[in-house]
Amino acid sequence: MNDIILCKLGEIVLKGLNRRSFEQKLLNNIRKRLAHLGSYRVYCIQSTIYVEGENGADMDAAFEALKKIFGIIKLERAAACEKDKDAIVALAKEYLKKDMLRAKSFKVESKRSDKSFPMTSIELSQYVGGELAEAFPDTKVDVHDPELTVNVEIRDLAAYVHGPSVNGAGGMPVGSNGIAVTLLSGGIDSPVSTYMIARRGVRPIPVHFFSFPYTSELAKEKVLKLASLLTEYCGNMTVEIVPFTHIQEEIKFNCPEEFFTLIMRRFMMRIAERIAKDNGAKAIVTGENLGQVASQTMEAMTSTQAVTDLPVLQPLIGMDKEDIIRSARRIGTFETSILPYEDCCTVFTPKHPRTKPKVGEVAAAEAVLDIEALVNEAVAGIERVKVSFAEDAT
Ligand code: ATP
Ligand code: MG
Repeated sequence: MNDIILCKLGEIVLKGLNRRSFEQKLLNNIRKRLAHLGSYRVYCIQSTIYVEGENGADMDAAFEALKKIFGIIKLERAAACEKDKDAIVALAKEYLKKDMLRAKSFKVESKRSDKSFPMTSIELSQYVGGELAEAFPDTKVDVHDPELTVNVEIRDLAAYVHGPSVNGAGGMPVGSNGIAVTLLSGGIDSPVSTYMIARRGVRPIPVHFFSFPYTSELAKEKVLKLASLLTEYCGNMTVEIVPFTHIQEEIKFNCPEEFFTLIMRRFMMRIAERIAKDNGAKAIVTGENLGQVASQTMEAMTSTQAVTDLPVLQPLIGMDKEDIIRSARRIGTFETSILPYEDCCTVFTPKHPRTKPKVGEVAAAEAVLDIEALVNEAVAGIERVKVSFAEDAT
């Protein structure tokens, strides 16, 4: 009995002429994601992706990995047999034996994408249901509220039998909606914003501003760990670690304290824009959330965004903190985010930050600095670190 995984596609099915390229992206993402787990045959027919193990490849590990790949809305472990009603009954008896023995009630649901099959879906469900009821006399047929639904699908190449579907990660295949630079601090918010934008099909390039020795080597390790946790969803990434100490010191020694954070954030945007342009990225993503801190008022964000022409995407802008925390727990970044290492923003936080700055005021406050030279120096010093799902995240 061959074990197979069926992945049902979400929104990409709706994409008309683009469908092929979306499917191709998703197939590539799946192949890359599974490559280190073993050998699999991955193919797409009629908007369903089939994943078959070869040479004893680990199907449990593949199933877990597939649950985190964007573009898949539902997935099922299934078994295949020839398109014959008695072969289907025999397979269902064997493949779902444990589930049938455990459940008090069941029904059979059939679908035919191969319309040449000689029975209608209803006839097939009735036939398989009758045979199963006889084989498992303690499990009653209940078509309204069954404990177990036995699914039979008659498709192009074979018939498939499976139990319940599991929800996939949804969204669109990473890479199908372009590239964006994502500002990744060590906090709770920015890993969630990175996840959300990747779920919309964007390939993220994480950028971290690092202020050694004000923030420690451990703070950098924490960000790399967060990035490597995100690779399960986003695919392999290269994190750009930007040396930020000199810029922060220049701000601290030369600019009015009430504007420290805002000037710093304008530098982050300028550097992010440079990295974006060097990598074909078309937007900057942040974990900002309206009203959460002084630099996240509408006025403060206006002054921050004024220095870039790229759109600044803020997937968390309207969420409650509780919702963000719930998302962080669900995607598995929360425990790492709450490790107690300083972020560069907290090191130079002014006592009384301006919450409603005018853009002109912030620009005037930073005018004493050689902005261009500082940005060039930071960009020249970038360290690039590859993070990959193939390695054990440390
Ligand atoms: P987070 O939990 O993501 O740190 P936050 O609520 O603490 O967010 P801020 O510290 O004000 O908010 O930062 C706002 C956003 O700016 C972050 O979500 C992140 O996108 C970006 N950011 C802040 N600090 C850094 C940093 N050191 N490196 C890269 N990006 C940063
Ligand atoms: Mg932060």
